[in-house]
Amino acid sequence: MANYQLQRGTYDAYYEDALNIEKIVSILKRISKSYGYAPIHTPMYEQTALFARSAGETSDIVTKEMFNFLDKSGRDICLRPELTAGVMRAIVTNKLYATKDLPLKLSYYGSAFRYERPQAGRYRQFNQFGIENVGATSYLNDAETIIFGYNSLRILGFPHIILKINSIGDEESRNAYRTALKEFFQNKIENMCPDCKRRFETNPLRILDCKVKEDQEIIKGAPKMSDYLNEQSKEYLNNILKVLDEQGVEYEIDDTLVRGLDYYSHVVFEYHFITENGTSLGAVGAGGHYDNLLREVGGPQLSSVGLAFGVERLNLLLKEINPEEYAKVELDAYLICLGKENLDKVFSLCTTLRNNGFNVDMSFENKSMGASFKIATRKNAKFALIIGENEIANNIVKLKDLNTQEQCDVSLENLVEVLDEKLVD
Ligand code: ATP
Ligand code: MG
Repeated sequence: MANYQLQRGTYDAYYEDALNIEKIVSILKRISKSYGYAPIHTPMYEQTALFARSAGETSDIVTKEMFNFLDKSGRDICLRPELTAGVMRAIVTNKLYATKDLPLKLSYYGSAFRYERPQAGRYRQFNQFGIENVGATSYLNDAETIIFGYNSLRILGFPHIILKINSIGDEESRNAYRTALKEFFQNKIENMCPDCKRRFETNPLRILDCKVKEDQEIIKGAPKMSDYLNEQSKEYLNNILKVLDEQGVEYEIDDTLVRGLDYYSHVVFEYHFITENGTSLGAVGAGGHYDNLLREVGGPQLSSVGLAFGVERLNLLLKEINPEEYAKVELDAYLICLGKENLDKVFSLCTTLRNNGFNVDMSFENKSMGASFKIATRKNAKFALIIGENEIANNIVKLKDLNTQEQCDVSLENLVEVLDEKLVD
């Protein structure tokens, strides 16, 4: 027999894990709706050129992490490393920008693929939930996005959040800063990692993003972006920070935060969390302001701001923070049929309960009462509904609370109502 392996960097999620990932996503979907975002679905693969163009030719994603291949007709295809570029492409393809009602407020959820070295919270296929505001004209759009992320994390159950913010300014500010960085690293780059050597030539800002310890020591002495922001860029950042202050959102300014993608300008931010045991998986979410991405992919120039959460990282951390809040796979009730000849009737009741919105299940085998109770317990059923000859003759079921072990007879007529009441308690 062939032994098929789980592919490196991928994972199977099942039972509680899968359930909780779904719960996280449904909470994020609900919150995004409350901020006026509408969902958008785009394909998992696009032309490789789209990502090369949008993430930036010099970004880690493009230089090292792209999952690209030629399809059977020789097209250069890439599994999306992130969802923003596809969303921008879809906005252009479908001319969604041709509306009076800007900004477009879009939310997305789906898999992203990056050929990275797998480690805790880092996979080759992972899922992102994100939002985009395209055609944003106010610093309030930036503030709203940051607040959406912050409040979402609080609602999901993070007791506190480390929100890191930086401004990488407008183009003029960044050019000035790039020149300063080049001067600073000029005589140090020789002793830095190969990636930094490449970054020095292609995009020195990215050196600040280096995760090599020795390099980080050198980076500590580098000039600060904040000293190179022009007046407009400073004002833009300060306006956002003022709103965050007013809304009680705590943040720290992180001068080294430049983010991995090329397309950002002005404000960039990341959400981090460290558990009591010291577990930290890097950023659980990140985002920023971008001015030219839509134009780069063939649309009009529209300023935008967005963020993305890494759903697996959220799940891993929430499981550690709050194991008891972690949703269980469970049933409202488990039906126990006594007597093979009654299976059809009990199955019919089972269907009725399902049609009334209850989560119920039963076995189609003729099991003993004892075996059935064991199954009900393993399936985390709150109630057992016992039905035999006698119950059928009298149009009743025996309802047993599997927590208190209390038992009573309920007429079939009242069953939905009684279950509803009991499940609310
Ligand atoms: P990192 O610095 O950890 O590599 P990134 O800057 O590359 O993150 P983004 O492109 O901003 O990440 O993606 C947004 C979020 O997606 C991240 O904050 C993280 O939570 C999640 N994420 C990114 N890469 C992975 C991955 N390989 N596996 C799981 N989650 C990921
Ligand atoms: Mg990365």
